[in-house]
Formats: sequence, C-alpha cells, structure tokens
Amino acid sequence: MSVDYHIHTSRCGHAEGSMVEYVCRARDLALKQIGFADHLPLLTKQDMTLTMPVEQLDGYVQEIEQLREEFPDIGIKTGIEADYLPGMERDTAQLINSYGFDYVIGSVHFIDGWGFDDSRYLEGYENRDIYEIYEEYFGLVAGAARSGLFDVIGHLDLIKKYNFKPDRDITDLVEGTIAAIKEAGICIEINTGGLRKPTGEMYPGHEILRRCFNAGIPITLGSDAHSPNQVGMDFDMAIAVAKQAGYDRLAVFNKRERDFIALG
Ligand code: ZN
Ligand code: FE
Ligand code: FE
Ligand code: ZN
Repeated sequence: MSVDYHIHTSRCGHAEGSMVEYVCRARDLALKQIGFADHLPLLTKQDMTLTMPVEQLDGYVQEIEQLREEFPDIGIKTGIEADYLPGMERDTAQLINSYGFDYVIGSVHFIDGWGFDDSRYLEGYENRDIYEIYEEYFGLVAGAARSGLFDVIGHLDLIKKYNFKPDRDITDLVEGTIAAIKEAGICIEINTGGLRKPTGEMYPGHEILRRCFNAGIPITLGSDAHSPNQVGMDFDMAIAVAKQAGYDRLAVFNKRERDFIALG
C-alpha cells in the first residue's frame, strides 16, 4: 500500500499534463491515495513560472473535489506545498486557513529571497561558503517546523540539489533541524524527486532518513511529480530505503488530522 502525497499541476507554470492524467497514472499504479500538493501562491512576489496566481486557488481546490467524486476507487487528497517565508507567517496562515486542505507541506525554496533550487539563480552559490548556505538553509527548515504552519516538511535536504557540497561536517545542523521537527510533532516526506535532479539522491538522503527514524519522526511519501508519468516514480526504492531505516508505516491525512497506514 502506498500513497503519493506530492503531486503538482500545470497551474504552477512548470508542470505538464491535466489533473485527470495524474489521477489515471496513480490508478494504473494501484496507489491507495494521492494528494495534489501544488505550490501555494507566493506572498512575496508573483512569478507565473513558480506558482499559480492566487485567483486560481479556488479552481485548484474545486477540480480536486470533482476528481474525488469521479474516481471514488482512489483516495484523492487536497494538499498544498507552501513556502516557509520568515516574517510572513500570519499571511501564510491566513491563506492556508481559507481552504480546507487535508495537509500542508512546508518547503524552503528561498534563502533571503534567493531561489537556491532554481537553475536560473545558481550564481548565488559562487563566492560563498557553502557550509554557511547549508547553515542558513537548515535554520530555515527548523523555523518552518517551529512555525506551526505545516504538517509535513518537504524535501528536507533540498539544499543538496545542485551538488554544492560543504567542506565541513553538517551533522550538527541536521540534528538541530531534526530536533525542531520532532519537537513540532510533524512529519517529513521521502521525496523521490531528487533522484531526477543533479544530486541523484532522494530527499532526505539515507543517513538523514535514519536519523529521522531514530528521532521518532513519521514519514509520508511523494514523487514531486511535475508530469503524469512521474507519479509514484521510484517508490519501490523509496519504500525499501524507508524499511531499511526502520519505518513500517506511512502518515496519511484528512482535514489536517494524521493517521497511519502500513508501509509497502
Ligand atoms: Zn514545482
Ligand atoms: Fe518544493
Ligand atoms: Fe513540489
Ligand atoms: Zn517540491
């Protein structure tokens, strides 16, 4: 039994396919549940290649509801992937709370406005101490956990995406962030999207995943699909790695209430 809780839609401007195609792919794979988790409109700027404009949120939620009625044989959840923007917590909460989401993935894609995971802005890594970038990144992820805005931390070690590697050990940074996630009582996702990126690793990597298990942090599972064929991609590997780390269950959500199903 498996779920894919991280699926985008063409509304974000950098994904393709219709929502029904994503659902059909998930049914072909016999997934038990899927959750759309498209990017929440950014409160700091409008970029049509990053997120839908706020006017499209209603239609996004409505289309998921229609699909849920049309395909009762698969659980279809209404999720969202929201950016953690320090200082914007109240506005973020307000926007999130105006919809009845099943779960909210909290992701860090920006460090002081710099889109560090965006191939258009890689010059931001030049002439900088990579360890310091990692420190800022993991500090922001800890802030996301402490914000209380989110149910799931998205792609926990996204900062590794383009293979800029710190020259010092990052265990303390990672452990600090894991402690904040544990303290917040929320979960992380295994995100197979990283396998399709320069890093070639899922998020989080195996060692960090083991640390999360040891800390007692639950997991969800997501492909970060930006096209229908990416739904459920590399889940055999993700499930095997999760089991190796010690996991035997997956968190699932309904109206932001967490429950668990057996993994695999
Ligand atoms: Zn995206
Ligand atoms: Fe993301
Ligand atoms: Fe995503
Ligand atoms: Zn993502």
